[in-house]
Amino acid sequence: MKKILTALLLIAVSTSYAQDVATSFKSTEIVPGIYMVEGVSGFGGGNMSLLVGEDYIVMIDDGILPLAPTLLAHVTATAGRPINFIINTHVHGDHVGGNAHFAENGTVVFAHDNIRKRLVADSSSAGGDGGLPVVTFGEGVTFHLNELEAQVFHIPRAHTDGDAAIYFPAVNVIHAADVLFNNLFPYIDLDNGGTVDGFIAGQKKLISMADDETKIIPGHGPLATKADLQRNLLVLTDSQARVKLLVDQGWTIDKILEANPLSVYHEDYNWSFITTELMTRTLYRSLTTED
Ligand SMILES: [Zn+2]
Repeated sequence: MKKILTALLLIAVSTSYAQDVATSFKSTEIVPGIYMVEGVSGFGGGNMSLLVGEDYIVMIDDGILPLAPTLLAHVTATAGRPINFIINTHVHGDHVGGNAHFAENGTVVFAHDNIRKRLVADSSSAGGDGGLPVVTFGEGVTFHLNELEAQVFHIPRAHTDGDAAIYFPAVNVIHAADVLFNNLFPYIDLDNGGTVDGFIAGQKKLISMADDETKIIPGHGPLATKADLQRNLLVLTDSQARVKLLVDQGWTIDKILEANPLSVYHEDYNWSFITTELMTRTLYRSLTTED
């Protein structure tokens, strides 16, 4: 089942890439000096952030490999200067695809220890060994960019085992990365060290840091508020409880899929990559296997 699920995910990813790769990127200044960067007319990777400080330019994540030159041109023009640092939020190819291309152009890549470990084993999604992070951290690292402080902190065993989120206290912004899929069933990558309980704990931590004015940049989906994050957490915890109820009664995955306990969320949260069925399978697997 694990192999089948992985194969299904790979097909879903490659199909969505093949169907509509972004043609360009757009940057929206959400607070002075911080831009949210997204693909235009298609998928360019997870949402990114660009921090334009007086002294340094920092990017959070760098999209998919085929669009690396397009992204580099876009963000360099937006910032008006070359990019000094990139922070990878996790190992997936839609967040580290530009690593090697940016590194060739002088950018230093920062990432959690586990991202580098996984990329050392296979660096193809980051554009080859040139895309390996040069500086790694465990618990976190803080960038001091004039008045703007960027606190990068590790979220254990959530979307993957190398997740980082970034908090900017001075401007009340959180870059949640893939610990938030806003208004979408989340992808929890059990094969790369992610866990449902860790994902829930991570979202609770982000909620504890936010107030009603906080702007939250999700890895996928539109810019979010604390209320959005709370709603997405509720969907996940309730979905987990719905599947657990049936697992506790000894139901098989086939019987659970037939009963479709997540049908109440299908209309609003099902999407091409994480369908209602795949969300159900992920919750079932996490409840029935040791991690
Ligand atoms: Zn991801």
